[in-house]
Amino acid sequence: MLQQLWAYAGEVVWLPTEDGWVQGQPEPDVIEGEWRAQSPCLEREHHDMMRLDGDWMVCVDCGRTSDENARAGT
Ligand SMILES: [Zn+2]
Repeated sequence: MLQQLWAYAGEVVWLPTEDGWVQGQPEPDVIEGEWRAQSPCLEREHHDMMRLDGDWMVCVDCGRTSDENARAGT
């Protein structure tokens, strides 16, 4: 079972809705833009990423998403 999906960009936490991405309200507890508080990922400092359709990756443990191509292009 996937967690609530989230992403981090521009020092803001974003959550997906049917109409696209919206700023998290209230903002989830995110540490350093990378880890959710009390997540197993924070403790081991590693996400368990799984590929979704297209180029999206999602962490099965905390729901963090990332666009692989966007990252590779920077
Ligand atoms: Zn994670």
